[in-house]
Amino acid sequence: MIELKSPSQLQIMRRAGRVVGEILEALREAVRPGISTLELDELALRLMIQRKSKPAFKGYRGFPAHICTSINEEVVHGIPSQRRLKEGDIVGLDVGVVVDGYYGDAAITVPVGQITAEAARLLQVTEESLAAGIAMATTGNRLSDISHAVQQAVESKGYSVVREFVGHGIGTQLHELPQIPNYGKPGSGPRLKEGMVLAIEPMVNQGGPEIEILPDGWTAVTKDGKLAAHFEHTVAVTSGAPEILTECQKKKLFR
Ligand code: MG
Repeated sequence: MIELKSPSQLQIMRRAGRVVGEILEALREAVRPGISTLELDELALRLMIQRKSKPAFKGYRGFPAHICTSINEEVVHGIPSQRRLKEGDIVGLDVGVVVDGYYGDAAITVPVGQITAEAARLLQVTEESLAAGIAMATTGNRLSDISHAVQQAVESKGYSVVREFVGHGIGTQLHELPQIPNYGKPGSGPRLKEGMVLAIEPMVNQGGPEIEILPDGWTAVTKDGKLAAHFEHTVAVTSGAPEILTECQKKKLFR
């Protein structure tokens, strides 16, 4: 069953989402050649504690860190380490927190210094595919309309969608129903209703869609070694425009 959130539950989820958005913006600013992903993890934890929130990923099915950091051909679930980012890398940053029992979850992929035009295009197309999916998150649409919009936005640009991982409902659990694949025909699945909160998260490969999991049991990488990108927002379905809970207000000011 897909749980509908009441207005008061949504209030708490807005706070959780705001914390995630602020931390992602701080991490984006901290990313530079020479910083290690462990340093990013430590920064994220400090900011979570400051904001009276708890890390959602640490210990989740045994995940060993506070955030996920996925470099270049790593698609998702990379584990922060001593590895230092290099000029030209791209790094996916996935942040989840719990505030008063409610989860927020979002991800961005950011350039490290100067990146190639091809890498920049992958980031842009992946972010656009997230926007296309979010635009479908309104009452009356069906779940697979989101999936289809993401897939179209990705494949029309010559990239491929990862199928092994999906977006998800979110609330008092990190992963609730429904599962939200990033591919599919439109017009099927449950009808979207006010009060649904969805984490929509395209994972997009520059080359083929196939992935494999590294021996650490977590890190998903592209099978062909080409780049991958990941963007995610936690979104509340409304009868009007979808409400993005994890958007950073500061980022809006910068634009
Ligand atoms: Mg997620």
